[in-house]
Parts: sequence; structure tokens; C-alpha cells
Amino acid sequence: MVCSHENHEQHSHATHATHATQQQDNLMLCPQCDMLVALPPLAYGSKAVCPRCKTTLSSRWEEPRKRPIGYALSALFMLLLANIFPFINMRVAGLGNEIKLIQIPQVMVAEDYASMATLFMVFVQLIPAFCMLAIILLCTKVPIPKGLKEWMAKMLFQFKTWCMVEIFLAGVLVSFVKLMAYGDIGVGSSFVPYCLFCLLQVRAFQCVDRRWLWNDIEPAPRLDRPMEVGRTGLRQGLRSCQCCTAILPAELTQCPRCHSRGYVRRRHSLQWTMALLLTSILLYIPANLMPIMVTEALGNKLTSTIMAGVILLWGEGSYPVAMVIFIASIMVPSLKMLAIGWLCWDANGTGKARADSERMHLIYEVVEFVGRWSMIDVFVIAVLSALVRMGQLMSIYPDIGALLFAMVVILTMFAAMTFDPRLTWDRVNETIKKEPQGDGK
Ligand SMILES: [Zn+2]
Ligand SMILES: [Zn+2]
Repeated sequence: MVCSHENHEQHSHATHATHATQQQDNLMLCPQCDMLVALPPLAYGSKAVCPRCKTTLSSRWEEPRKRPIGYALSALFMLLLANIFPFINMRVAGLGNEIKLIQIPQVMVAEDYASMATLFMVFVQLIPAFCMLAIILLCTKVPIPKGLKEWMAKMLFQFKTWCMVEIFLAGVLVSFVKLMAYGDIGVGSSFVPYCLFCLLQVRAFQCVDRRWLWNDIEPAPRLDRPMEVGRTGLRQGLRSCQCCTAILPAELTQCPRCHSRGYVRRRHSLQWTMALLLTSILLYIPANLMPIMVTEALGNKLTSTIMAGVILLWGEGSYPVAMVIFIASIMVPSLKMLAIGWLCWDANGTGKARADSERMHLIYEVVEFVGRWSMIDVFVIAVLSALVRMGQLMSIYPDIGALLFAMVVILTMFAAMTFDPRLTWDRVNETIKKEPQGDGK
């Protein structure tokens, strides 16, 4: 690439100018570390990564329209099938119960846990269905009003983290193990379609490249200023639009392409993150002390907290499941809170070496990826309380702790989202600037 650039410099000014504008199409500011990167020409099925923080910047797929539409359509069809037929069933001492996927929230509403039913509906059914529909509509060539397209594209990437289809599936498997000690568990004919839906929606998301999608809606706004690859946007008076990845002048607060507002760095990022973190810590204490569910068996009422559930499973010999619940419900949330606190403290501090930024970035990525999986226990309770309804013999109800715990998970997810990862990299500039060869700005 360097060679071709030198060749072009021998040509006239006009060709140089077109070369510069052509090059602008390949430039991208890394959303995670703010480095200006020149994307290489990508082969089908390959992706471009940021040389500094290794974040995937863009990927190129063969058939960028047909592929996602195919996956998303089949995913929607599978979701429909999954809702029509019985999902799981259970038999205890001659008494049986069979539920459909759609009945899970109904049971919770009947038990005055409408809030948890809403969480289930939103995270496992509505948001994934909306995202699949949005992918189909955004990738078709059928003319759709541009405003609607922009709104859908904006929502699609915001909703991505809230799609908890695979976490619910893991929750279903965990509840199977929990219930095996009490009776026979079976899967209904909609279980396989649901698993397929889970796989297909993951693939559909993978095939949609944010950069490609936005360029398809509208070409990125052009900038008439020199840009230097390998330097951060902050030092060149540029910012990347967090929504559509366009490179914008730092002083422009509203993106001309997607109309979302933004600043060089997320405003009051650390304050917001800290506030959300503190709230979640305060809720985490009662969430662990209050019972998450009530088991009624043969007239006896038994309440259990998260930890008690883990101990019970361990005692029964289901070590792997006990470990899964312990890691997802106790270790991950506590470590996540610690990690977010550390990230804030670190971003606020000054003057550290480069290796530290890399380590902090790894922590940030792990926190972002792993945090949603804590919802697993909430889904386990949802499945248990919907399935185990055998009156006097055995019944399970959710309790207040489960709701508090769900709120903790959601709040820590928001805390991680409001944190601006570029802050951990800004210090690196700081140290470069202090050195003599810096531009002294
Ligand atoms: Zn980067
Ligand atoms: Zn934008």
C-alpha cells in the first residue's frame, strides 16, 4: 500500500486529489481505541482488525444481502415453530405438565411476576424477532423510506447485546439438570426449532457488517481535511460516529448520516458508569440475601437464595451445573463489578505504560462479553416456575430476589455500555505527548 501511494505522488495534483478521496472510503476510526486505520481490500469471508486493540473493524461477506436475509428468514420461521408446539414437559408420580414457550410469561404474569415475564418476552422473543425482521428489511433491495431504514439500523446494533436467546437455551438445559432428581423431563417438538433459531440468529448477526450496512443506506459524509493513518482521532480533531462509524469533525455533535448525537468522548462516561455501578452493588446485596424462588412440595414451603441453590446442586452431585450457576450468578457479577470499578479508576488515573492499556482493554472486552450470561439463573427460575406446577405435589414460584438479581445484571450491562473504552487508550497519547518528539499540543 505504501508503494502504490508513492507512485501516485508522481502524478498531477488532480489525480492525487481523487486518490485521497478514494482512500477516504477505506479509512475508519477504531470505535474502541480511536486509532485511524486504513482498511486493506478484504477478500470474501475475511475481516479487518485494528492493529492496536485487535477489535474487528469490518468484515466482508459473499452475497452480503442474500446471506443475512436467508439466515434471518429461517430464524424467524423457526421461532414461529418454536412457539406453536409444546416446548418441554415433566412427569412426577403420574402427574404431568407440558408447556409451550409462549406459556412461560403467562404463568409468571399469573403469579404477579409480570416484570419478570416482561424481561423474558423482551429479551428472548421480541428483541430477537425485531432484529431478524430489521436485518431482512435492511438487506432487501425493496425501497423502504430512508428514515425507517436509519431507525432500524440504529436499533439493530443497540439491541444486539440484549438478544438473550442462547442464554435462555442454556437456562433451559440447567433447569433440566435441576429437575432430573424429581421426575422425568422431556423435550417437546418445538425444542429443536428453538435450538435452530438460536444458531440461525447468531449467524444472521455475524453476516451483517455495520460499516457495509450504513454505507448501503447512505455513503459516509466526506471530510476536506488531511487525515493521518496510525494516529488517534482525538489528536487530529476527528471523532467516529458511535452509531454508523462515519468519521466526523470533532466539533460536529450531530452525525449528518445517522443523525445520532455524539462527542469526541462519551459525555460524563465515568460518572454514569460509576452511578450505575454503585446502584447495582447496592441491589446486589439484597439480591443475594433474599430468596430467589419458593419451592412448595407436599405442603412444605422452602425458600432458596442463589447460594443455597448452588449448595443444593452440589450436594445432589450435579457438580458441573452447580459450577455453571456459581460462576454465572456469583463469580461473574462480583468480578464484573470489580472490573468496571477498576476500569473507571484506571481511566481516571494518569501516566501509565502502554502494556496496561492492552490489559485494561482485555478486561473491558471480557466484561462486555460475559456480563449478559449472568441472566442464566433468572431464566432458570422462569422455566422452573412455569414447568413445575403440580399443585400440592410440587410447585415452584419466583421470589423477589430473582427480580433484584435481574436488575443487577441489567444495570451492570448498562454500566459497561456507558463506559467509553477509548478512555483507557487516551493515556497512551498522554505519555507520547510528554515526550520530546510530540507535537507539543
Ligand atoms: Zn482499536
Ligand atoms: Zn452516524
